[in-house]
Amino acid sequence: MSCLFCKIASGEIPSAAIYQDERVYAFADINPKAPVHVLIVPREHIDSLAEATPEQNDLLGHLFWVAAEIARNKGLAKGYRVVVNTGEDGGQTVDHLHLHLLGARQLTWPPG
Ligand code: AMP
Ligand code: ZN
Repeated sequence: MSCLFCKIASGEIPSAAIYQDERVYAFADINPKAPVHVLIVPREHIDSLAEATPEQNDLLGHLFWVAAEIARNKGLAKGYRVVVNTGEDGGQTVDHLHLHLLGARQLTWPPG
C-alpha cells in the first residue's frame, strides 16, 4: 500500500484523529489554509471523485455528513466551505479522494 492517505487512515502513519468511524477518518491538514482545515477521507481507497461509482453513493453522502458534524463540533456556526479538488485542473495533489473542510475565517470567492 503506497497511498499516503491510506497509510494515515490505517494508522500506519501516525496522525491526530479529529473524527473516525468504520468508514471514515478525519485529521488536520499539514499545511492549513484556514484556522480550521480538516481532511476527511474514506478508509476505502478511491482515486478521486471522478472514479467514484454509484455503489459508493452512501459512502460519499456519509463523508459530507461527517464534514457537517465536524463543523458543528468546531463551532463553525457562521459557515464554512467543503472542497473536493479533482484531477490536475482541480488542483488535486493526493490521489485518494478527500474533502477539505475550511472555516473560522471569511472565505473568498472565486477560489484560485
Ligand atoms: P489536494 O491538493 O486537494 O489533493 O489536497 C491534499 C492536501 O493534503 C493538501 O492540503 C496538503 O496540505 C495535505 N497533506 C499532504 N500531506 C499531508 C500529511 N502527511 N498530513 C496531513 N495533510 C497532508
Ligand atoms: Zn489511498
